[in-house]
Amino acid sequence: MIHIEGLSKSFGSNLVFQDIHVDIEQGDCISVIGPSGCGKSTFLRCINLLERPTAGSVYIDGQEITAKGAPLDQIRRKMGMVYQTFNLFSHKTVLENVMMAPMQLQGLSKKEAFDLAMECLTQVGMAERADYMPSQLSGGQKQRAAIARCVAMKPEIILFDEPTSALDPTMVDEVLAVIRRLVNRGMTCVIVTHEMNFAKAISSQVIYMDEKGIYEMGPPAQIFDAPKRERTKAFINRLK
Ligand code: ATP
Ligand code: MG
Repeated sequence: MIHIEGLSKSFGSNLVFQDIHVDIEQGDCISVIGPSGCGKSTFLRCINLLERPTAGSVYIDGQEITAKGAPLDQIRRKMGMVYQTFNLFSHKTVLENVMMAPMQLQGLSKKEAFDLAMECLTQVGMAERADYMPSQLSGGQKQRAAIARCVAMKPEIILFDEPTSALDPTMVDEVLAVIRRLVNRGMTCVIVTHEMNFAKAISSQVIYMDEKGIYEMGPPAQIFDAPKRERTKAFINRLK
């Protein structure tokens, strides 16, 4: 479904990563782990072209999105993104946050967008908070609202960048449970996370990024229990 070929990114003379190859199939849940600054966020942002890769190509459903003149708006709608810091519109209610893009970008009527938004909010356990302002929510509730907003766009894939890192520890589980439900229902996901138990339980593949690229990639049983390469071993051991 998503084919990443020879992807490289530099900022000026700072090479972040080079020559990344990954294939993501429908229903995959790929976790990305690695030390701070190794390029995990930049990798996600290059997948949906929030950052322009320096070299390489990204294809979604056979269409090269890195090609000159590719219809970016249309392509981005296929890819949702969930951020560490939620990025809800603070002057809009939860419901309005979720209704907005389907109305503005997909042309849904107000009634259609309302029904869809309530369905998505129900999925994340936030229907009762539909009329709240973001400032009246806990961090976990904000993140669940942000996930509902993303799901309402019916993306083919959701990219999560440390969705629980900004949360009070008591709220991590409620957000992970929502992500787990999405994955169990077949949503294709790429998740940058420090929640190793979660990554171990949920991922089809784990990418360990280091040394300016994918240093090791494999099923969770390999990466977490029997890593093959030195730096992966050291990283995993530090967490134990
Ligand atoms: P963390 O775990 O701390 O979130 P990360 O693995 O997500 O780290 P990135 O944020 O992708 O790392 O950053 C990778 C490298 O790219 C860093 O050296 C960073 O300084 C650099 N970088 C990221 N964004 C930019 C930017 N917009 N301009 C210049 N350099 C950048
Ligand atoms: Mg990051």
